[in-house]
Amino acid sequence: MPLFSGTFPSKLPNAGTSIFAVMSKIAVEHNAVNLSQGFPDFPISPKLIARVNHYMKKGFNQYAPMPGVVELRKAIAEKVQDSYGVRYDFQDEITVTAGATQALYTAIATFVKDQDEVVIFEPAYDSYAPAVKANGGIVKFATLKLPGFHIDWNEVRKIISNRTRMIIINSPHNPTGSLLSADDLHHLDQLTRGTDIIVLSDEVYEHLIYDGFVHQSVCRFPELIERSLVVGSFGKTFHATGWKTGFVLGPANLTAAFRKLHQFIVFASNTPIQYAIAELLGNPENYTQLGEFYQQKRDYFVSQLRNSRFDIIPSFGTYFQLLAYNRISDAKEMAFATSLVHDHGVAAIPLSPFYSMETNEQMLRFCFAKKEETLKQATAILCRI
Ligand code: PMP
Ligand code: GLN
Repeated sequence: MPLFSGTFPSKLPNAGTSIFAVMSKIAVEHNAVNLSQGFPDFPISPKLIARVNHYMKKGFNQYAPMPGVVELRKAIAEKVQDSYGVRYDFQDEITVTAGATQALYTAIATFVKDQDEVVIFEPAYDSYAPAVKANGGIVKFATLKLPGFHIDWNEVRKIISNRTRMIIINSPHNPTGSLLSADDLHHLDQLTRGTDIIVLSDEVYEHLIYDGFVHQSVCRFPELIERSLVVGSFGKTFHATGWKTGFVLGPANLTAAFRKLHQFIVFASNTPIQYAIAELLGNPENYTQLGEFYQQKRDYFVSQLRNSRFDIIPSFGTYFQLLAYNRISDAKEMAFATSLVHDHGVAAIPLSPFYSMETNEQMLRFCFAKKEETLKQATAILCRI
């Protein structure tokens, strides 16, 4: 017999199940080609697996230090310096997390208090707004503008008030594949300089950037660094999304505050994986070649759709390619995505769940982080629609 028969209060009464879980489940049930949730379908480095195995056999199976294994934090410091020319101190400016999701949640829970306002650009990755709301914050949405899903800084200027506690940015951007430019970061710097606003920069796709573009990390902007937390994920860098290992960079004062919550949210993340990743990060080829690797996949996917009725919305980074279907159907995105699985056997993610209000851009997000044969199979179907 239940001990409590009333209605359970929820901090997120309106939240449904994440669209990624929903679409992946439908894809499995219908045996569809799954280009919905973002994850690679090819094997990860055998060396990485061997090294995790090595550390497990050697007995590295107990709790890691709360901020992360020293070897990994040192390797992250090197990687960041190589990539962006700035040195974060491994002792008090780098924290290893159980994936980027935990890093983002912990950062939001650390700094956002009751009635604090947080600016989020939409379409937005689905975890930001619920994390703000669960911590009593108020989300102020700014809309990325078409074409190109760019930020309108005049709009942001109007949204910001003395209650603004945080601005969350994401580049390369999920779900659109758009990028922030150096100019965008300058605007952000000007807007937040001399304020108490913290910038939370989701850079999990930092190495998945195409067409010769350079990733405009917050780490390249010394003034911004002082009030920013930068989030990364090894799930993307090592094609191992299921390993849920990530990190946060931040100046010592922000990191100290972050760790106060981190220690009670997760304490530490997986030990043998941290040691193994530390070794592989030592070889920059493991991340400097990712852009080229995924660009080939994007190019293959797009080239195979040349004769389809889908329109390609340019993507310059991430695992994702938006396709517009307005020449095929005027259905709403969720209905079109569902029929794509049921009637044709291809799963994608509608764009609408990335918005707070009802939208219908008639676009779906497809994940091209797949083997060529998977992309071939999916595009052959898409070309027949
Ligand atoms: N941010 C963005 C933009 C993402 O796309 C993802 C996952 N794909 C995450 C954060 C979460 O990363 P992790 O799997 O390391 O928690
Ligand atoms: N980030 C992945 C995506 O955008 C999914 C992560 C998740 O399932 N929460 O598809």
